[in-house]
Amino acid sequence: MLVHRLIERKRDGGRLDAGEWRTLVMQYTAGAVTDYQMSAFLMACFLRGLDRTETSALTDAMLNSGSRFDLASLGVPRVDKHSIGGVGDKVSIVLAPLVASLGIAVPMVSGRGLGHTGGTLDKLESIPGMRTNLSLAEARAQIEDLGCALMGQTDEIAPADRKLYALRDATSTVESIPLIASSIMSKKLAEDLTGLVIDIKRGSGAFLTSFEQEVALANEMIHLGEGHGCPVVAVVTAMDRPLGRACGHALEVEEAITALKGEGPADLMEVTLALGAEMLVLARVASDASAARTDLNAALSSGKALARFRKVVERQGGDPAVLDDTSRLPQAPARETYAARRAGFVSRVEPRAIGRGIIELGGGRKVMSDTIDAAVGFVIHVKPGDRVEAGQPLAVIHARDDAGIEAGRSVLDAAITIADEAEPPLKLVSHRISRNGVETL
Ligand code: URA
Repeated sequence: MLVHRLIERKRDGGRLDAGEWRTLVMQYTAGAVTDYQMSAFLMACFLRGLDRTETSALTDAMLNSGSRFDLASLGVPRVDKHSIGGVGDKVSIVLAPLVASLGIAVPMVSGRGLGHTGGTLDKLESIPGMRTNLSLAEARAQIEDLGCALMGQTDEIAPADRKLYALRDATSTVESIPLIASSIMSKKLAEDLTGLVIDIKRGSGAFLTSFEQEVALANEMIHLGEGHGCPVVAVVTAMDRPLGRACGHALEVEEAITALKGEGPADLMEVTLALGAEMLVLARVASDASAARTDLNAALSSGKALARFRKVVERQGGDPAVLDDTSRLPQAPARETYAARRAGFVSRVEPRAIGRGIIELGGGRKVMSDTIDAAVGFVIHVKPGDRVEAGQPLAVIHARDDAGIEAGRSVLDAAITIADEAEPPLKLVSHRISRNGVETL
């Protein structure tokens, strides 16, 4: 195969057949195609797009570059949730043990921070001792025993995507619908699922910027799932403000623990229940969303969901005592309350500014080798539309030192806008997208 012929063809708007996708992906993973050739090819894909058949061929090529879970013999439904990136989004940490406590296997393969968004793996690793680099065999045994594993994409799962994704990140070719859909689905299909729920984020903090793009991405993933016997449902949720109050790794784990006790912030609980209900219905353990919500609420209030999380943390080497005493999580040495500069209505709490602010405080990576300060971040008590008085506490900055506090103040000055009036924020859970089309909720 002459790689430059494929680059030329894509550059000129042509298409590759399934065999060419397979060979290209195989050769790139094996190191026979160079990063510079693949970068040019990816940019051609980004600009020219892929048709449905090509997206499916690329997904299969990446999926088949590694191993897959074999979970069918467990004899239980296997359902996962995937979110298209957000700020303050700790839903996975709540949802995986919650849904697993209701008899569904949740083989949750999560990612690390990307751009301004935080990653579930980084958040989980703020629990002292917690390991997320589980092998497939280890994860399978854990799923058999506990119904749930919280793990990262190891070399065993879609290694081609892992390599391609790192290259896309470095070459500004992430925001392409076929490339995102195939990347996510190559990992999710390796989980041997019977259903998948996608949380599509909408608003200024989301990766995709228009509703049309979000629907197109959802439809692409629904189509890929259908082709592999894995029904996919997408739920559109607001990311024009952070989800919940806590933004930052350990702070978000603390809030997730509160949510597992049924006492999380209303918006976090609402998104968790909406996605969880879809998971239960897809798994056919609940007849409809309302019955599913009753089961989910019962698992939260009875302590069943929290007990399952305790077992998962313990099994993955984490300190289970953090569930009873969250001060065992990393704590920021410097804290300061941030107060309203004037009276009025909160018109914006900008998630991108908050996400980037966490990175500035040391809670994210500027390059892959950076280590994360899990303790830093923000706890923001206001939402767009709230009426505030001058001097009213709006947030708490958690930083490493005085310089971090100062940086945190500037972040919040830019992120939180108070005006004489405020536009209503986006509806928190606004649409449901399935093979039957887009439903407004
Ligand atoms: N998450 C992924 O796993 N892949 C993408 O391309 C984008 C987000």
